[in-house]
Amino acid sequence: MAEGRVYNFSAGPSVMPLEVLEEVQREMVNYKGCGMSVMEMSHRSKEFMAIAAEAEKNLRDIFGVPGDYTVLMMQGGATLQFSSIPLNMLGTKTKADYLVTGQWGEKAHKECNKYGTGQLACNTKPTKFTTIPQKSEWKLDLDAAYVHYCANETVNGVEFSYTPDVGEVPLVADMSSNFCSKPIEVSKHAFIYAGIQKNLGPAGMSVGFLRPDFADGSKELKICPTYCSFKTTGDNGPMYNTPACFTMYVMGEYLKYTKKVGGLAYWAEMSDKKSSLLYGAIDGSSGFYNCPVEKSARSRMNVPFTINGGDEALEKKFLDEAKKHKLFTLAGHRSVGGCRASLYNGMPLEGVEKLTDFMKSFMDENRK
Ligand code: PLP
Repeated sequence: MAEGRVYNFSAGPSVMPLEVLEEVQREMVNYKGCGMSVMEMSHRSKEFMAIAAEAEKNLRDIFGVPGDYTVLMMQGGATLQFSSIPLNMLGTKTKADYLVTGQWGEKAHKECNKYGTGQLACNTKPTKFTTIPQKSEWKLDLDAAYVHYCANETVNGVEFSYTPDVGEVPLVADMSSNFCSKPIEVSKHAFIYAGIQKNLGPAGMSVGFLRPDFADGSKELKICPTYCSFKTTGDNGPMYNTPACFTMYVMGEYLKYTKKVGGLAYWAEMSDKKSSLLYGAIDGSSGFYNCPVEKSARSRMNVPFTINGGDEALEKKFLDEAKKHKLFTLAGHRSVGGCRASLYNGMPLEGVEKLTDFMKSFMDENRK
């Protein structure tokens, strides 16, 4: 742990591996001897074009993106992406299926209804988003333009541990909050998108992997703004307008670091270790701590939990005392309350060990 830093369990934006921050710091003022910072250089300079090209190549290598897929590096976050999806993918079908297992999937579904019919293939809201129903319970429409799911629901702590099988219908995934945490099956998807600010860099841009039949503009609605068009972004690379240059550069450093430590397999191993440790502490507390999410749907990235059956005064005491141990940003999302520990790649195993040690001592002192 570097001097003065804390263990940041924030759900976002961005918890960065220290090594990446330190590399960025080294290059901040004078990037590789060119006399200026990356944030000051032209996005069309040869230095920046090389940064963008290397980032794209590393995305392809690390994620195993098929050669005929387009890699999109787009300004704006995942909200802009899920708003753009119906505009680019509905085509003449006008209807799409949404597997809604949390608040982000719910928002994406709402957006589709502005331009077509967003059908609820499942909706776990009545369970307060604590489950993922079996496939036999999904209402899939074989004629839907696509099926959208959110691979990891950041607020609710619900994660798909598998790629949903939706047959021939194009599959679309929001992977914003578990991107770069495990290998993914890109070719089973027509479109994968992720705001990069959880697990791959600072806020400001998103990444997409797009199958060729959606990259040619053939399913784009006439009202689609040029800026939201997948074809425009695909044809121009990240240079249709000024990209989020500095964010892209930091993402590039994060990708290089990912290669160095062993790629997605390394992050997957660390995520499994960290989340098993934390769920073990919760489940082993005889109900003092409780995670409301069904075991099979639990997220390795975002772990919501309550204390003593949702005792708000005790939860506040927990959050206050945690800070004294350098354990920060453990409050639950404002809409669900309780506590939440996010375990992105930037959180070292040591931080989760400190958290579980603290949880044990807090429980011993406060259990009635
Ligand atoms: N999808 C998921 C899973 C998220 O966690 C978030 C943000 O936290 C979003 C979408 C929206 O992303 P953005 O804030 O980048 O628009």
